Amino acid sequence: MFEKNNPLSSSDGAFAGEPLRDRFRGALIGTMVGDALGMPVEGYSSFDIKRTVGEVRDMLPGRRCKAGSYTDDTQMMIGLAEALLEKPGELDHDTLAEKFALNFEENRGYGGNVWNILNAIRSGASWRMALDTFRLPGGSYANGAAMRAAPVPLACYPDEDKTERLAVRQAAVTGHTHEIAQFGARLQAVSIIRLIKKGASGEPVIGKKFVDEFLDEDISDYDRKLSWIGANLSAEPEEVINVIGVSGVASESVPAALWSFLSAWEDPEEALIRAVNLGGDTDTIGALAGSLTGAYHGINAFPRRWRDALENTAKGRDYVISLADRLCDIALT
Ligand SMILES: [Mg+2]
Repeated sequence: MFEKNNPLSSSDGAFAGEPLRDRFRGALIGTMVGDALGMPVEGYSSFDIKRTVGEVRDMLPGRRCKAGSYTDDTQMMIGLAEALLEKPGELDHDTLAEKFALNFEENRGYGGNVWNILNAIRSGASWRMALDTFRLPGGSYANGAAMRAAPVPLACYPDEDKTERLAVRQAAVTGHTHEIAQFGARLQAVSIIRLIKKGASGEPVIGKKFVDEFLDEDISDYDRKLSWIGANLSAEPEEVINVIGVSGVASESVPAALWSFLSAWEDPEEALIRAVNLGGDTDTIGALAGSLTGAYHGINAFPRRWRDALENTAKGRDYVISLADRLCDIALT
């Protein structure tokens, strides 16, 4: 378990009412904002982004979709929120797999392995059977469990231990059982719950202190990267790309997103622009950084031009806000 970050009780006056709701909305809409910002340049290097679009500062269209469209990151975040709302207080694997498969749209940019698992479930296989068929040896170490994790801290609020447990539990449904993937999901989920508490109480974010509280488990090279982040909050993006990495491996994209937020925590727009312009797995780095930013600052911290451009289909922006509100209603009871 991560060292406790002065857990605050839900009865603390600072967390009653709207400050909390704004941050619950911010955490989920932040996934969507960052995902949609990064979507058009997914897989581009930072050099290619500079060469083709200069700098991503606005919602741009993708190759086959409109500006503001979301990808698998947001679609799975929605499924996870739905599963947590259907059975409050727990995380049922069958329910989660069912939500993922019901929402699954094959053109949303799913990774090959998750695509195969969800396609098999949709075709009638049980999730356990699908997982047995497509599970990667040793478990996936990609960022798929971290990118969608934002609803977990909301459903567990204000309990950090439960947030950690459910962050790992939800990862299993898509075979993200390698410790690199599990730690990434825990790091993201616990960061979100701590940032909601800090934001709601007006506490500043001290980057080095924030990452130091995650050290001590020595999983893969997370410790090295988190220590580096604490000491290099004013690094140039090129250094971040070289030292941390920006691929879909959880131990690259999750710390890269954390650096983006911590290095610009007072400026939500800049934090997101930094995240998506690192290149690599841009939609997921954006989604991860967006959730952190929204958790701390609340939904209104995102520029109106970004919020207005978000896809608002049946399961679009307004629906995501309604999911955050329902999770908040549960946290406030
Ligand atoms: Mg994606």
